[in-house]
Amino acid sequence: MTGARRREQTTRELSTLLRTGVELIQGRIAGIDLDRKAVVVGSEDHQYDFMVVALGAELDPESFPGYSGSAHNFFDLDGAAGLADELRRFSGGRIVVAVTSLPYKCPAAPFEAALLIEDHLRRRGVRERSEIVVFTPEPQPMPVAGPVLGAAVSQLLGERGIVLSTVRPLASIDASARELVFTDGTRERFDLLAAVPPHHAPAVVRRSSLAGETGWIPVDPATLRTPYDDVYAIGDVASITLGNGKPLPKAGVFAHAQAGVVAREIAASVGGPAAQPFDGKGYCWVELGGGRAAFADGDFYASPAPAVRLRAPGAHWHVGKVLFERSWMASGIERALATAALQIGARATGVRSSTRWA
Ligand SMILES: Cc1cc2nc3c(=O)[nH]c(=O)nc-3n(C[C@H](O)[C@H](O)[C@H](O)COP(=O)(O)OP(=O)(O)OC[C@H]3O[C@@H](n4cnc5c(N)ncnc54)[C@H](O)[C@@H]3O)c2cc1C
Repeated sequence: MTGARRREQTTRELSTLLRTGVELIQGRIAGIDLDRKAVVVGSEDHQYDFMVVALGAELDPESFPGYSGSAHNFFDLDGAAGLADELRRFSGGRIVVAVTSLPYKCPAAPFEAALLIEDHLRRRGVRERSEIVVFTPEPQPMPVAGPVLGAAVSQLLGERGIVLSTVRPLASIDASARELVFTDGTRERFDLLAAVPPHHAPAVVRRSSLAGETGWIPVDPATLRTPYDDVYAIGDVASITLGNGKPLPKAGVFAHAQAGVVAREIAASVGGPAAQPFDGKGYCWVELGGGRAAFADGDFYASPAPAVRLRAPGAHWHVGKVLFERSWMASGIERALATAALQIGARATGVRSSTRWA
């Protein structure tokens, strides 16, 4: 989004992630047939004994009135690259980061985006001529993590002169006037708009009987089982309600940990060693720009509400995030070194996670 990474630095061939003995079939899943225990890809049926649904969340910017042509969808790669081009040309004015609807993946992302934009403008020498405002329908940043964490993120924004406007549900975008229109009829002007698009469960899931009332797939919080025999769902497509009544955030760290839980669940059901339940522990970095980051971690399954804290910002957290990235994206010796350094850093900072680092 700020041009700090090239496109090819952010992707890896799926085939390089697979172990020997795993067959990869690439294609669009057109149907899920639970009665016949099959998925349909193109015109072909693929039977399963066990199925793990990991289809993520579908971004649907076109469904939001006025979005197309006026907002940058920084939640996908093309949108982030388009926003980077605009930010490079930006000579001053009002930049708005807006959340169109809930839920969205990565609860920190809109606030992190505002912080990174602020840093980028400062480096380009146009910060003084710019205003940055975040609008969200939420009562605070990352409400799932409680009021203390929300106040800490609000403070990070405030320290950088970023205006945060909460409880502002959006109705539409008036593209010709370059204004946001809120459900209460109020309007806000923008010169450059980065907007979190609406998220849905993928259409193939919504059409299946796996989808619950919200369209997402309800699962057992410990085992990730759906109500259907031998069918699991993990990651963004799954829905888990926490002790405080809010959904488990849609985040990669959870998708990753849940994958391991389900793999062991399936192995256990065919005679392997006993499985370990998913424990709801998670973490995330909040990049601030300028080589600094904050770090949030905690237990989302704690009762009566998740117990999550934000660690004070520092350069070491940013280094941790870069190592984390390298542990996923690099290969060979660099990957091994990044993973080892990350483990040492995690121990030194007292970060505990049920997830083995990649
Ligand atoms: C800007 C941004 C920042 C983020 N930052 C963080 C972070 O710091 N930490 C963190 O933990 N998470 C972060 N996330 C969230 C994280 O990326 C997601 O939670 C994670 O990728 C979810 O993994 P998943 O496997 O469930 O879904 P995905 O990664 O979305 O994968 C689902 C896959 O299924 C495919 N698919 C969908 N429908 C079909 C179909 N019908 N047929 C075939 N394939 C299909 C999709 O194309 C996709 O490749 C961030 C997300 C964004 C957008």
